[in-house]
Amino acid sequence: MAQIIDGKVLAAEVRETVASEVQKIKAQGGTVRFAAVLVGEDPASQIYVRNKQRACEKVGIEFELHTLPATCQYEDLTTLIRRLSADVKINGVLLQLPVPESVVGNRLTEILNLIDPQKDVDGLTIANLGKLADGVNGLVPCTAQGVLYAIQSVCPDLTGKNVVMIGRSRIVGRPTSLLLTNHDATVTICHSRTRDLAQYTRNADIVVVAAGCPGLVTAKMVKKGAIIIDVGINRLPDGKLVGDVDFVNVEKVASAITPVPGGIGPLTIAFLLKNIVVAYCRQRVC
Ligand code: NAD
Repeated sequence: MAQIIDGKVLAAEVRETVASEVQKIKAQGGTVRFAAVLVGEDPASQIYVRNKQRACEKVGIEFELHTLPATCQYEDLTTLIRRLSADVKINGVLLQLPVPESVVGNRLTEILNLIDPQKDVDGLTIANLGKLADGVNGLVPCTAQGVLYAIQSVCPDLTGKNVVMIGRSRIVGRPTSLLLTNHDATVTICHSRTRDLAQYTRNADIVVVAAGCPGLVTAKMVKKGAIIIDVGINRLPDGKLVGDVDFVNVEKVASAITPVPGGIGPLTIAFLLKNIVVAYCRQRVC
């Protein structure tokens, strides 16, 4: 049976370091402040933002929520993002995704790039993704950092490991594959157009999946002893939350596996907190 990689325990470790860094900053008279922007009333997004607020408050980061109605204009959003980016009292700015299409149309990238790269704690601006591609330390997307931390909890050295990354999104798949490559893994990126996915996953020492397809990775697709990182979050019709892995059967073949919930989700929030403090320190040169 595989070892369960407990994301809640790992996230608590990360939060503890962040909390002590925030305490040091406060002792020197500083304030770490984070602003989240929420457009519209999507219930899932409201929950995600509330979780971020709670997490910030627990470690002593000041949290500001800026909301706009789904009926707002594109310019209302750009004005707000520009204002927050220019505000010297704010160290991190995040636009909660997804943003209603009625507001952004196909200009989401343009909006994200209005965030000052030094405050882009989600790591989604072209500047930060470019740095990651170049192997330079910018602000790295939180889920990618969570995946690396989870892997390193059971396999500290990724050198030469065969990794299959399923998913190539800007938020998860691409940055994760770059980060793992920067740690000397040999990464193959698979996606919805990949032919015979199993042919790749069967040879992988580590499989990371972020596809949004329940049951996509089955036991037959996994090499004995592989490490399985499940980023997917899917709500089934009965209300149950599951990942992209057939957990019950894959657990019997893998050497280590992340559960859903309680795996990469808590780590993603912990690394958001970490990014906010990193952003503060770079802005203040502390
Ligand atoms: P996305 O829809 O933007 O991208 C999905 C990717 O998976 C695409 O690149 C697509 O090509 C690939 N894909 C889809 N079906 C596939 C298939 N059958 N075979 C191979 N590849 C396939 O989604 P995303 O934003 O990257 O999110 C992916 C999943 O991760 C979702 O379930 C999302 O809820 C979850 N997620 C979790 C966290 C977390 O903190 N745990 C963070 C972000 C996203």
